[in-house]
Amino acid sequence: MLWNGLELPMVNGTDRDPVVQHGLASRVKYVRLVTRTIHGKNRYYAQLVCEGVPYQKPEHTMGNETIGLDIGPSTLAMVGDTQAELSTFAEEVARDHQKIRRLQRKQDRQRRANNPDCYDGLGRAVKGKHPSKKSQHQRDTELVLQELYRRETAHRKTLHGQLANEILAVGKYILTEKLSYKAFQKMFGRSMSVRAPKRFLSILTRKAESAGGSVEEFSTYDTVLSQVCICGQKHKKRLSERVHACDCGVVMQRDLFSAYLAKHVENERMQAANAFEHWQGVELLLRTAWQQALN
Ligand SMILES: [Zn+2]
Repeated sequence: MLWNGLELPMVNGTDRDPVVQHGLASRVKYVRLVTRTIHGKNRYYAQLVCEGVPYQKPEHTMGNETIGLDIGPSTLAMVGDTQAELSTFAEEVARDHQKIRRLQRKQDRQRRANNPDCYDGLGRAVKGKHPSKKSQHQRDTELVLQELYRRETAHRKTLHGQLANEILAVGKYILTEKLSYKAFQKMFGRSMSVRAPKRFLSILTRKAESAGGSVEEFSTYDTVLSQVCICGQKHKKRLSERVHACDCGVVMQRDLFSAYLAKHVENERMQAANAFEHWQGVELLLRTAWQQALN
């Protein structure tokens, strides 16, 4: 890129990279200036926003099945016609997060030590006083933290993208319950920000739609999938009950069962007759997914 005599090289791939080729062949609509702090240094990027549809890697072929999804605070259950899976949201990211927590506590100790007049004898913040003094050690901690945050975000984005691709490889027509993420966050707090189901859903939606598929969210108010059975009976369940067991004989892991029911929602209603009819055909598939998750 040439600008006012300044020559900017391309990063993230070369011009032989099919992704870059596809991008450069499209019309540039905007140039966004983006700054990122990497290893404590500010870097500036010119990001080209192109017209058209994103490049799709040939290995990411899209399936044509209808998929039911159950998105929990940390788990994801998916059920198609030929595949079912129960997986954990960005498990690896959660592990890295411990390091961040440790540093956050260190940073807090340093902030308190550097600004003793901002806290009372019990360690509570004094009203109207802002801890503004920083030691070099505290600055160092902040830099390391910033880098960890950036890497966590990038890592999560990659894992979310992979998970979305895996689902879309089976089917690009997706049905899922609309979730109140605010209520979610109240219940589960920190684990939410780490695994960020909402961001996952937006990645999935973007990918599905650009491939001609769809993500349909229906209201939980009308369906209450966690409490109904294919036989028509209702069972109130506590959140801690992880297995759906009905006296009609259906026994299944709760999230997988919800995903199965989600697959049979039409016009905001769960079609119990359809779900009942197909149950025998997929029971083994779901059972295998349940077993795999346990292992
Ligand atoms: Zn039943």
